[in-house]
Amino acid sequence: MNIAIDGYAGSGKSSIAHALAKKLGIKVLDTGAIYRGLACAYRGKFGIKITEENVLNFIKDLKVDVYFDGEIQKVVVNSKDYTPFLREEEISNMASTISAYKQLRESILNIQREFAQNNDCILEGRDIGTIVLPDADVKFFITASVEIRAERRYLQMEGQNDRPSLDEILKDIKTRDFNDEHREVAPLKVADDAIIIDTSYSTIEDSVNRMVNIVKNVGR
Ligand code: C5P
Repeated sequence: MNIAIDGYAGSGKSSIAHALAKKLGIKVLDTGAIYRGLACAYRGKFGIKITEENVLNFIKDLKVDVYFDGEIQKVVVNSKDYTPFLREEEISNMASTISAYKQLRESILNIQREFAQNNDCILEGRDIGTIVLPDADVKFFITASVEIRAERRYLQMEGQNDRPSLDEILKDIKTRDFNDEHREVAPLKVADDAIIIDTSYSTIEDSVNRMVNIVKNVGR
C-alpha cells in the first residue's frame, strides 16, 4: 500500500500523514526533510547563496542516507547527520530554492521510490502523486488558506527566541508557495486523481478520519 500526500507548507500535511500512518499501521517518509537535509549540507559547503554552478558541484559526490531511529527520521548527507537543523527558518527557505534544481531532485528520486517499494507507507511531499509515485494506491492533496497556514506556523513557534512576526511568516509562506508552484521541474500541483482535503476549518482528527474511510474503500 502506497499513499501519496502532497500539499502546501503549513497545511497540516505532516501531522495528517503521521496520524493517518498510525491509524493504518504503516510508515511515513517525509520527503521535505530530505530536501532540508540537502539544503543544510549545501549551506555547510557553500554558504546561503544558491547558484547553479554550486548546486551542480554539490551533487557530484552526494551521498544521502535516510533511516529511522524509532519514530525519528534521520537525514544524513555525506556522513553528517543534519536532523537537528532541518526546521530552521533559513533552511526552510533554502530548501524551497534548492529543490527547484532538476538534477538535485533526480538525485533523490530513487531513495524515495525504494522506500515505497519496500514498505507499506505514506510518502509526504510536493510531487509524490505527480512524479515520485504516479501509481500510488491513493493520492491526497492537503490545502488550507495561506492566512490560516501562517497563523498555525506562528503559534507553533511560540516561545522561540528568533520567532518571526506573523507578517514575516505570511510573506515567507507566500514566497515558498510561489516557488513550489512555478518552478519548471516537478511543480506543486494537484494530481488529476488526487482527493483534495481542505484543513482550513477542520481539525487534523476530522481530516484523518475522512481519509481513513477513503483508504479503506479503495479497491472495494
Ligand atoms: O515539506 P517541507 O516544508 O519540509 O519541504 C521543504 C521544501 O522542500 C518545500 O518548500 C519544497 O520546496 C521542497 N520539497 C519539494 N518536493 C518534495 C518535498 C519538499 O520540492 N517532495
